[in-house]
Amino acid sequence: MHDNLIETNSRRSLLKKTAMFIAGMAALPLLKTIRNARAADKLEKTAVKYQDKPKDGKDCDDCMQFVAGATPKAMGTCKMVEGAISPHGYCAAFTPKPKKST
Ligand code: SF4
Repeated sequence: MHDNLIETNSRRSLLKKTAMFIAGMAALPLLKTIRNARAADKLEKTAVKYQDKPKDGKDCDDCMQFVAGATPKAMGTCKMVEGAISPHGYCAAFTPKPKKST
């Protein structure tokens, strides 16, 4: 009787672990899709005519969407546009940072 109880519990435990493993494996493609969707949320550089140089004195490090890199001259990222972004780049989605009041 005692042995049967232990055997039943270990079988249940094994089934539970197997079900959790299968659920985890099934979730992997979903996680990949979510990750791709997040990357796809950003615009392609060509869609916003991104260029690696400023235009009319406007550049990425003066844009609200710019996320600076490790140093002021390092490549950063953009909240809207995919890929590495030059602090001195520019695109059609340029949104100037609000001017600091003095
Ligand atoms: S929106 Fe355009 S201009 Fe602004 S940081 Fe991103 S790439 Fe640069």
